[in-house]
Amino acid sequence: GSGEIYDKMCSLARECPDVEVEFGPEIAHGDNGIGIKKSGCHGFCEMGPLMRIEPMGILYTKVSVDDCEAIFERTIRNGDVIRHLLYKQDGIEYQRQEEIPFYKRQTRLVLEHCGHIDAEHIEEYIAHGGYEALGKVLFDMKPEEVVQEILDSNLRGRGGGGFQTGYKWSQVARQKERTRYVVCNGDEGDPGAFMDRSIMEGDPHKMIEGMMIAAYAVGAQEGYIYVRAEYPLAISRLKLAIRQAEERGLLGEDILGSGFSFRLHINRGAGAFVCGEGSALTASIEGSRGMPRVKPPRTVEQGLFAKPTVLNNVETFANVPMIISRGADWYKTIGPENSPGTKAFALTGSVKNTGLIEVPMGTTLREVIFDIGGGIKGDGGFKAVQIGGPSGGCLITQHLDVNLDFDSLKKMGAMIGSGGLVVMDDHTCMVEVARFFMNFTQNESCGKCVPCREGTKRMLEILERIVQGNGREADLDTLDELARTITGTALCGLGKSAALPVMSTLKLFREEYMEHVAEKK
Ligand code: SF4
Repeated sequence: GSGEIYDKMCSLARECPDVEVEFGPEIAHGDNGIGIKKSGCHGFCEMGPLMRIEPMGILYTKVSVDDCEAIFERTIRNGDVIRHLLYKQDGIEYQRQEEIPFYKRQTRLVLEHCGHIDAEHIEEYIAHGGYEALGKVLFDMKPEEVVQEILDSNLRGRGGGGFQTGYKWSQVARQKERTRYVVCNGDEGDPGAFMDRSIMEGDPHKMIEGMMIAAYAVGAQEGYIYVRAEYPLAISRLKLAIRQAEERGLLGEDILGSGFSFRLHINRGAGAFVCGEGSALTASIEGSRGMPRVKPPRTVEQGLFAKPTVLNNVETFANVPMIISRGADWYKTIGPENSPGTKAFALTGSVKNTGLIEVPMGTTLREVIFDIGGGIKGDGGFKAVQIGGPSGGCLITQHLDVNLDFDSLKKMGAMIGSGGLVVMDDHTCMVEVARFFMNFTQNESCGKCVPCREGTKRMLEILERIVQGNGREADLDTLDELARTITGTALCGLGKSAALPVMSTLKLFREEYMEHVAEKK
């Protein structure tokens, strides 16, 4: 038989490399029309390693080395389906990936190629319409028309704040200084978040194309991708993607004979969470210690090397090619008017189907946790979800029908952040959750300003005391006061949002704090 095996590489910690090796001698060279493609993340982490057999579209789950011989002989050679490797839910067996509820209820646009194309070959991206948007802007659009299209699309930055991307670009384009930069934030430091990593590993050209369109729109000549060093596969695939784009004349001098030139570099971050903050990130690229600075000047005026800079994250840039190809009007038909498009979330914790998902903005938490996530794992019920990582807050049962978009969440005192969703069941101690996030933030505080440096330390001490059973009721008031002071006076976003998990859990789960401090008045 003929066919292709798609091998999922995001489960490196599981058996993927072994599965690939096991198949290697038989089909590594693609003899008889059979070959292995190393794709990016399919998203269904709970069921990995995944293997998709084409052209039949069969998805096998939890594939192990021991299954390889049977898959080769029975499925690839003879077309038989191995039923115990199929995904099952509520007594139903699913043969094709698209039919599985986890995928069926998603809208995968940014992640459309992840798990489906070979991320190490530019030809696959081009065959799926890749770089057409770049060609469109270079030959059919003026830079100001590109900025206007992004403004019209109302694309909002997916890195956390939800700032209007087109407005940011227009601010850079209007600066007098002619040397300009485009920087991609691939630092993704939130515990439990891996959306950007999956895009960089599974579809690196999409964000590169987005960066190039941004560079053309604002007149930038050079760009940097700042990736955390803990993402070695993302770094190697980005390097390969840049090299392949350069070889095809899609990056470098006089791109496709258009007269537009753009060079792209990769910078590895050393794992400091604060380097996700714009001014700390640009300082780090410049070779300085990654510390935020006072603003203004803003990054759009004086960013990297004190030049006007467009700084967006991976997912934001990955939205750009489809907006250009399909138009702002089409884009605005997805999700609510004020937060159009989709959002990728990393769904983790006590949920049955953990993984990487993408849904239209405005999808409810209930749909995400129960329809896509399959509900709560084990015997516990739903208790809360931490959204936005250490900079975010908790949502509880009464918020299950809240729309997941920038403005709706802000009203709830939470934020979408970069898209981490940690689901907790009713066995979870929420004071311990607050302590965990405060410990993370305290470790990551750069120490530049007193409220964050000292305040997070004092808050952590109190939380540790309470968790150990040595707290007092008066500690809760001190926590509250410290939280307000830090939020109101810290220099950068890390400090300003550091107390959010504590404030949120104090508000929603005060009785749990009270139980911890009971009898110690
Ligand atoms: Fe550094 Fe925290 Fe101050 Fe930000 S708020 S500058 S991380 S000490």
